[in-house]
Amino acid sequence: LFQASFEVQSAAVRVRFGEGIRRQISSEVERLGRKRALVLSTPPQADAAMEVAADLNGLAAGIFTKATMHTPVDVTAEALEHAGAVEADCLVALGGGSTVGLGKAIAYQTDLPQIVVPTTYAGSEATAILGQTQNGVKTTVTDPRIQPEVILYDAELVRTLPVAMTVTSALNAMAHAAEALYAQNRNPMSTMIAIEGLKAFAAALPRVLDNPDDLTARGETLYGAWLCGTVLGQVGMALHHKLCHTLGGSFDLPHAETHAVVLPHAIAFNARAVPDLLAPVTEIFGGSNPGRALFDFAKSIGSPLALRELGLKQDDLSTAAELATRKPYWNPQPVTRPAINELLLAAWAGGPPA
Ligand code: NAD
Repeated sequence: LFQASFEVQSAAVRVRFGEGIRRQISSEVERLGRKRALVLSTPPQADAAMEVAADLNGLAAGIFTKATMHTPVDVTAEALEHAGAVEADCLVALGGGSTVGLGKAIAYQTDLPQIVVPTTYAGSEATAILGQTQNGVKTTVTDPRIQPEVILYDAELVRTLPVAMTVTSALNAMAHAAEALYAQNRNPMSTMIAIEGLKAFAAALPRVLDNPDDLTARGETLYGAWLCGTVLGQVGMALHHKLCHTLGGSFDLPHAETHAVVLPHAIAFNARAVPDLLAPVTEIFGGSNPGRALFDFAKSIGSPLALRELGLKQDDLSTAAELATRKPYWNPQPVTRPAINELLLAAWAGGPPA
């Protein structure tokens, strides 16, 4: 893993890991010197948010349960008004990337400290990146205020993640690690973290699917999510994330599912340029090449395999390819319009990558 020269930038984040650790939220609020937490969730997780607020005793100032996928700016505006009305002095986000995104959006404008309790594997809690949507356009911004200060990983909370979401959310996390292996600004530590993250999912995900209540296996997958989210926060992503961003932002495809389908195709494409850097993928998942290894793993765990299953129309493929290649960006394998057309067509049809 040695590199002759590199740079590392890591954020000061406090991470606590353990079954039942969510019950320590109040001590984390006190540790930050705060007294009025605003608890955030999506509507389906409102009950869990109420429990957190109850556990906080007098330290909860309010609850806002309207977090929405892709962080629409109008929901953020309403949450900001609520935070002001209850005089919140810190944020507690309980949920997946959507809830974490709302907390980040509020923190970006107020600099309130954030305590995040993740319930999916998306990994947003470990990054200073915020993606938000306005009038159907998704843009991202990176800023130190966006980075959550405290993360509490509690395996008991991911136990309720439905099986289908468990599969796609895990592949979403693995995509961060796979692209980190060839990131232009990778460093020996990010590569170690990425490999360990992929290994955690390879080992624990089949056990979670055998028994979704297996807390040890759930804990191992959450450990993988932390590692994969951490590399997402440290190094730049490339073609895979660009394609998913385009498909999610412009065609409203669901986030984790889109990552799950595109990943083997994007990795197969880039493996042509950087086979050595992607060799760990084949070592961990088996198979003849990295793209095929990920495709076979995704298939074995029951992942969706085709963009057409997610509702994308064949007629939309050329627009998607045009949008994804309009602005140049770094990728190990040159990104050309015909190549992306071909990649997207294969991902749309759902067969193994070329
Ligand atoms: P999500 O947060 O939208 O959750 C999906 C659904 O599952 C929601 O209804 C949620 O309430 C429910 N859910 C979550 N955890 C659950 C649990 N344990 N039990 C039962 N139900 C549960 O989905 P996601 O994939 O975690 O997040 C997607 C969003 O996160 C996207 O908007 C994406 O852009 C963003 N994201 C951002 C970053 C970043 O670094 N900025 C990284 C990854 C994802």
